[in-house]
Amino acid sequence: MSFRIGQGIDFHQLGAGRELWLGGVLIPHHKGCIAHSDGDVLLHAICDALLGAVALGDIGQHFPDTDPAYLNADSKMLLRRCYTLVREKGYWLVNIDSTLLLQAPKIRPYVEQMQNTIAHTLHVSSDDISIKATTTESLSFIGREEGVVATASVLLQKY
Ligand SMILES: [Zn+2]
Repeated sequence: MSFRIGQGIDFHQLGAGRELWLGGVLIPHHKGCIAHSDGDVLLHAICDALLGAVALGDIGQHFPDTDPAYLNADSKMLLRRCYTLVREKGYWLVNIDSTLLLQAPKIRPYVEQMQNTIAHTLHVSSDDISIKATTTESLSFIGREEGVVATASVLLQKY
């Protein structure tokens, strides 16, 4: 049996007039992530962690933000594709641990829905998906609500 670990991080700027997608869930807010895709910073961090664990580069290489195919792309589709690449290498997901860094809105009411959405997308148990959230105590670009950050770690297993 062998294991692989991966980590990912993603940043997006927040802007008015954009939908706020986090963890595959549309969250009512007056700002959203500015991006070529739907800007789901959490799913992008998880994608990078999955790709990193099998040394397949990063999300930007697989889904370039210059490719019109990914304009307003649903990041759940990107996540599914990243996990397909992992499965093609013979690995299964053991668990994901992730953290969202943002000042507003409060994320806790949406965490269970995000866990279920990610679990459903990857065909795994929601018990294996951890999503934490923290503000930065009003410090930095995150505290000023100019942007959001997400980090994720994944563990993969091959039998
Ligand atoms: Zn991103």
